[in-house]
Amino acid sequence: MTEERILVQREGTFHYPIVFRKDFSSLSEEVLSLSKKSRRICVVSDSHVAPLYLDTVTKELGKCGMKVTAYILPAGESNKNLDQIQGIYEHLIQEHFDRNDMLAALGGGVTGDMTGFAAATYLRGIDFIQIPTTLLSQVDSSIGGKTGVDFRQYKNMVGAFHQPLLVYTNGAVLKTLPDAEFASGMGEVIKHGLIRDKGYSTWLACNREAILEREESTCLEMIYRSCMIKKTVVEKDPTEQGERAVLNMGHTIGHAIEKLKNFTMSHGACVAVGCAASAFLSMQKGWITEEDYKGVLRQLEAFHLPVETTGLSPEDILQTTKSDKKMDGKAVKFILLKGWGNAVVDRTLTDRDLLSGIHAVLA
Ligand code: NAD
Ligand code: MG
Repeated sequence: MTEERILVQREGTFHYPIVFRKDFSSLSEEVLSLSKKSRRICVVSDSHVAPLYLDTVTKELGKCGMKVTAYILPAGESNKNLDQIQGIYEHLIQEHFDRNDMLAALGGGVTGDMTGFAAATYLRGIDFIQIPTTLLSQVDSSIGGKTGVDFRQYKNMVGAFHQPLLVYTNGAVLKTLPDAEFASGMGEVIKHGLIRDKGYSTWLACNREAILEREESTCLEMIYRSCMIKKTVVEKDPTEQGERAVLNMGHTIGHAIEKLKNFTMSHGACVAVGCAASAFLSMQKGWITEEDYKGVLRQLEAFHLPVETTGLSPEDILQTTKSDKKMDGKAVKFILLKGWGNAVVDRTLTDRDLLSGIHAVLA
């Protein structure tokens, strides 16, 4: 890897670093180098991740001379709600956290989104750092500043934009990640190549074995390249007014499938099916070749991701897709490929077009 850190724009000229390491041993050094000096830090983790990494992280942060406390959330998306956020607030109040203190999110996207939201709202906003431990959080949710929780049946309905001070990625933690969670992160990784960088897609194909073995250097290079793509897109459009929408490739139909399957299928797997539909529709428009379309399917399958699904009606998928928040006025905002590596926002697809894309991914 040529560089070990990426700087992401936060506000004006202030940038925060994403650092890439093979252990937690430079965490204290990174925290100490932040311009912000806190007296207390609360590590928020979940019930799966805490037994694995909380001790090491707490000890490392202790070297910074701060009082380190921990708050453990029950793992899982079903706990991503305001009740759990209240638990974090109560802990912070008990520990006398003030506006100069900070939070650290140690875990996947659920922990990151919730910790970020608690940080965005406690005392009208305190700082936080991200220590992402799933592939999905390392390449996706820890970057871009979106934080929040689910509300009733609505996913990510309540939230805030709040950027971290630091993202500390340790590639070694991927070794303990369950296979299905790793594959889910690969859905977003493959999407990054599809939307912006064909060379990256080729690199993924060439390094498939090392990636699947979770070889640290290869995984770190992959995370780095994915982060560079997300950073470039997000910096051009921090609050999602336009270009950032290309990151939603595979998510329009993907979200509908995720919802209709009651979240029993992983997010990345649903995105993979959505990407397959998008590639099919791009081919139908004549924007990518049949060879590229088949190449997209091959790459998804090579990383243990599905390219079709069963047990759903095409009409249900269409209706759920249209009721998704990615709707822009009346037209569905759909991300298509004008060539591999060049995603565009399209608003011209009719219901008939969408149905043909949906049929292509129903077994
Ligand atoms: P997650 O946080 O639920 O983690 C998945 C599972 O893996 C959990 O059971 C967790 O305990 C476990 N785990 C985490 N790290 C581990 C490790 N190293 N070893 C063993 N087990 C580990 O889910 P996720 O896929 O990381 O994130 C999904 C969430 O991210 C969703 O809520 C989604 O809305 C959100 N998200 C947010 C953004 C954003 O921009 N903020 C982007 C994408 C997704
Ligand atoms: Mg996603």
